[in-house]
Amino acid sequence: MTRSFFASRDLRARLAWLRRVLPVAVFLAVLAYEAFGYFVLHTFSNFTHLLSDLLIYGTIGPVTIWFTISWIARRIEEADHALAARDQAEYEQQRAVEAARGQERLLAAVCSNSADAILTLDNAGILQTWNRGAEMIFGYAAAEVVGKHFRVILPPELETRGEVEWLAEQVKARGFVRNYETERIAKDGRRVIVDLTRTVLYNEQGDVIGSSAILRDITERVRAEQAIQQLNLELEAKVAERTAQLAAATDELRRRNRELEIANQELQKLDELKSEFVSMVSHELRAPLTNINGSIELLLSGDAPCYDRGHRELLQIVGEQSARLTRLVQGILNVSRIEAGQLILQPQAFNIVALIEKVIGVWESRGVTHQFEHPQAQNLPSIWADRDRTEEVLFNLIDNATKYSPENAPIRVEAESDGKFVTVSVSDRGIGIPSEEVDKIFDKFHRVDRSDHTETYGHGLGLFICRRLIEAQGGRIGVESVLGEGSTFRFSLPLAGRGEVETAVTPKRQSGGRR
Ligand code: ADP
Repeated sequence: MTRSFFASRDLRARLAWLRRVLPVAVFLAVLAYEAFGYFVLHTFSNFTHLLSDLLIYGTIGPVTIWFTISWIARRIEEADHALAARDQAEYEQQRAVEAARGQERLLAAVCSNSADAILTLDNAGILQTWNRGAEMIFGYAAAEVVGKHFRVILPPELETRGEVEWLAEQVKARGFVRNYETERIAKDGRRVIVDLTRTVLYNEQGDVIGSSAILRDITERVRAEQAIQQLNLELEAKVAERTAQLAAATDELRRRNRELEIANQELQKLDELKSEFVSMVSHELRAPLTNINGSIELLLSGDAPCYDRGHRELLQIVGEQSARLTRLVQGILNVSRIEAGQLILQPQAFNIVALIEKVIGVWESRGVTHQFEHPQAQNLPSIWADRDRTEEVLFNLIDNATKYSPENAPIRVEAESDGKFVTVSVSDRGIGIPSEEVDKIFDKFHRVDRSDHTETYGHGLGLFICRRLIEAQGGRIGVESVLGEGSTFRFSLPLAGRGEVETAVTPKRQSGGRR
């Protein structure tokens, strides 16, 4: 609280009032006094005398009073300011002291309530203070340990190892030890891993009076780190184990690969041998079969009267079976060439309708009972294909039509062009093909299972060869069929004059085998 004289506004106002009023009052009193002397008592000889008196006493007096009051007011104000400044300084000092005390109290509260253990020790290592954190961590109440040596929480083996001396040396040399990880013992014998910071303490004269110690309980963290480390080690061991297994598996895989490569090479060799063998056997069979066929044809030509009807029928059967065998041999030979990549195509421009007529003519001359419907199309553009191979395809499709349709049933062969391709169709009114079999009949050796006793001779090679021959010439082949009603096989081949080049199925490997 300030002690200012001018704290009251009244006093200040009164002084100001006095400074104005008192000079005027003195002047008026002098004036009255002089006027009374002059007019009533006649004490002045003349008017000039009166005026000079008035000037001297009526002016100097009030002016002196004015200055005097002003001087007093200023002095009071200065004293007042000085007092106020002193009050202010005292007030601030008091506040600083209170703030410092507050901070001290706060610091003390922080220290005593800290979750970390904060202790002070004298030079002999005797515990001087023991905060709440220390109580919580080590389980001792302050009353139990203050005044005792801090050895009370020191593990015996660390004392044996000289940790007490080492810490004392460090603190003495550097003034502190920071973040030193060590162990202490709680009241219940529990080991507590702590992070220790120890600092030397001085008194006001600069003498060492002891040290402070802050101990943070890091047991959980260290245990967690140890667990992670252990897990890492286990993980590394597992990774190493798996890597070894993987390496072993890779080695095994490489070994198997090598074995497979060798097996593959052997298989390729076997395949080549097989192709050569098949090719050779087929060639060797073809020649005698041609001779047999020729001889039978000669015998049946009618110029051999020595044979009666029974003999002729037998000869016909032999002839048919021999022809079938020839076709089988031819088929196997074709498959073997196709698979060996040794089938050479020799395309040329030719009229497909003429070829169809030729093939139908052959069949009609064989005396089949089926009714052939010749192609209606006339003047079709020439196609670009291997004539013999196309004839083979056509022959095979007509052969199938005769095999899988009843006697006397019609077989229609037609050809049409769309400007890019000529499509040839062979339709029969035969037994048809089950829908689930339509995609499979072009596979090698695939035959439709005719469990209804409509089984016909065959080997399942014809359509496989047809597809390979047509596709090798840039065409396509397919079938539409209704079971029990008949089938239509269609193949298309490109027209001639479309920038064709000789199409050839280039051999995949040059073989020394015969073709
Ligand atoms: P193959 O006739 O010698 O058995 P193909 O490859 O020529 O061999 O024919 C495969 C199968 O397709 C035949 O077994 C047959 O079941 C069926 N098939 C072929 N053409 C016809 C057809 N025109 N009518 C009915 N089924 C057919």
